[in-house]
Amino acid sequence: MTSAAAAAVTAESQPRRERPSTLALLLNNRLAAAGLVVLGLVVGAALAAPILPLADPNATDPAHRLAPLFAPAHLLGTDALGRDILSRLIWGTRVSLAVGVSASLIAAVVGSAIGLVAGYAGGRSDQILMRLIDLLMAFPYILLALAIVAILGPGLINALYAIAIVNVPFFARNIRGITVGLARREFIDAARLSGKGPLRILWSEILPNVLPTIVITLSTTVGWMILETAGLSFLGLGAQPPQADLGSMLGDGRKVMFTAPTISLVPGLMIFLIVISINLIGDGIRDALDPRLRSGALARPSFRTAIAEPLDRPTAPLDAAATLDVKGLRTDFRMGPEIYHACGGVDLTIAPGQCLGLVGESGSGKSVTAMSLMGLVPSPPGIVTGGTIGFRGEDLATAKNERIRTLRGSAIAHVFQDPLATLHPLFCVGDQIVEAIRAHQPLSRSEAEGKAEELLTLVRIPNPAERMRALPHELSGGLRQRVSIAMALANDPELIIADEPTTALDVTVQADILRLLDTLRHDRKLAVLFITHDFGVVSEIADRVAVMYAGKIVETGPTTAVLADPAHPYTRMLIDCVPVMGEPERRLDAVRGRPPAVNQLPAGCSFAARCPRVEPDCSTGEIVLDEKRNGLQARCLHPLEPGETLA
Ligand code: ADP
Ligand code: MG
Repeated sequence: MTSAAAAAVTAESQPRRERPSTLALLLNNRLAAAGLVVLGLVVGAALAAPILPLADPNATDPAHRLAPLFAPAHLLGTDALGRDILSRLIWGTRVSLAVGVSASLIAAVVGSAIGLVAGYAGGRSDQILMRLIDLLMAFPYILLALAIVAILGPGLINALYAIAIVNVPFFARNIRGITVGLARREFIDAARLSGKGPLRILWSEILPNVLPTIVITLSTTVGWMILETAGLSFLGLGAQPPQADLGSMLGDGRKVMFTAPTISLVPGLMIFLIVISINLIGDGIRDALDPRLRSGALARPSFRTAIAEPLDRPTAPLDAAATLDVKGLRTDFRMGPEIYHACGGVDLTIAPGQCLGLVGESGSGKSVTAMSLMGLVPSPPGIVTGGTIGFRGEDLATAKNERIRTLRGSAIAHVFQDPLATLHPLFCVGDQIVEAIRAHQPLSRSEAEGKAEELLTLVRIPNPAERMRALPHELSGGLRQRVSIAMALANDPELIIADEPTTALDVTVQADILRLLDTLRHDRKLAVLFITHDFGVVSEIADRVAVMYAGKIVETGPTTAVLADPAHPYTRMLIDCVPVMGEPERRLDAVRGRPPAVNQLPAGCSFAARCPRVEPDCSTGEIVLDEKRNGLQARCLHPLEPGETLA
């Protein structure tokens, strides 16, 4: 077995670290765990009521009325009729929990069903159902519950119905909102195309997607509903004497509030414990169920990527003549115990008017590298742990936030892959460019509009005056990308970072955009960091190339030299993947296997496991990026000689 195959086998047989389970996450949350313990004790006691050695909760004993706490045979004393409070408390809790939970379940099932149907059917059904729900919501809930109980008559079961009905709108509204969004998604269209009926789609496609929301809503409303049940019983409309529930016990206690305050304090305390523990659990469940909260993606995005303290800064001076001079840039993602070295010590230099192509497979860390420059990597989980980011001699890694804010969108501009996602869908493109201009320049609106139109002309959009008023979705993909480029140019940048700007476009439009970027950078002396996974694109636009693999630059040099005779086997393989007209026998499957996970990087060369030229020394220690021949640097111990091909 070669060492490459051996490495592959160990990589395969290593157990994949699973995400923590929902229960583990819930228990990890201390408040939620405390809630679980308290609620577990309360529910346990309530369930065990029939087998506990308790007095009859309804047996009156006038001789021992209003006994204090810790009276003999009455641990929590007795009430005005001499009934044992401990016994009534446990039996009453049982009733209150049963009513509150059943009401929540009924409200959840009915409300969610209404929401699903209204959201999915849309049109008139939606209108009718939602107006009915609005009708319910138009009354204060306690008034509505009172009215329902007044019609049905007092009693626990009727109180249960009343509370369920009052809470239906809450679920219906929530679930309808999510369903409306889901119903227009492509996977629902696909299900329809596969011949599934509406009921099957609701059941098997939409319901699983809204279930977490239902559970979260449920867990946060149960406590509220127990409170409402107690409220109705307190008013004498729920549990009827002699039956005890927490609300009626409170009501009874009210009459002797000043002579025997414990009689109302005890059920009050129980309600408090139940409601707060349920709410803590509800919050815990919400956090545990939402995978975005889990990874920190939903946390409020910080203004700038966190910078490690102390930052590991290379001592070499920054090149003030270069527009961009990055040295030893490292960005990690810290997720729980795992550290992902997404950008593991990257050096990049771009002179004014130069275009550097950053190439690599998907997931190699190109975007993270680019986003780190302006502190755009989300924190948490991202953190810059090392490096200097030289911009005309100024170090951006240690620059003040205020400075970064001024540079963003003015001296350094970004163009992203998907302009539809980065342009605001509700504003016409002219206004968006005007906004970008006025964010950095003290121009009047009409001056900015004039400049915006100039920019649209510059990026060769036909009829710019008219297009100014177009909404992003009214433009074709190519035109939208031109608008993004116009926006990037709005404040005369010196550096444009283009992250796969042509990946979503077809080849002819791609060629147009590349030509446009090329002209612009020559005319305006722009430095361009052009990110792509396609060597074909690189050869058309870049002066220099940097090839990235598993967070590190593995080869860099002038484009022509790299394309003609790459030194690193990985580069050779990437180049071999580009189809060439008239060479049908070219191997397009050249790069087999997958890159290593950046949280478990192997020692030595990350590419060793996939490399056909691997030798034992490839996996022993750090391999440096060094000069192989005229201007070509590679991180490889056994580089390819000029003209050499892979076996
Ligand atoms: P690409 O070269 O395709 O642009 P990226 O730079 O987007 O790759 O990603 C590099 C690595 O960083 C990947 O392993 C990816 O999973 C990880 N990564 C990117 N963004 C995040 C994030 N917000 N949170 C956690 N990991 C991330
Ligand atoms: Mg990317």
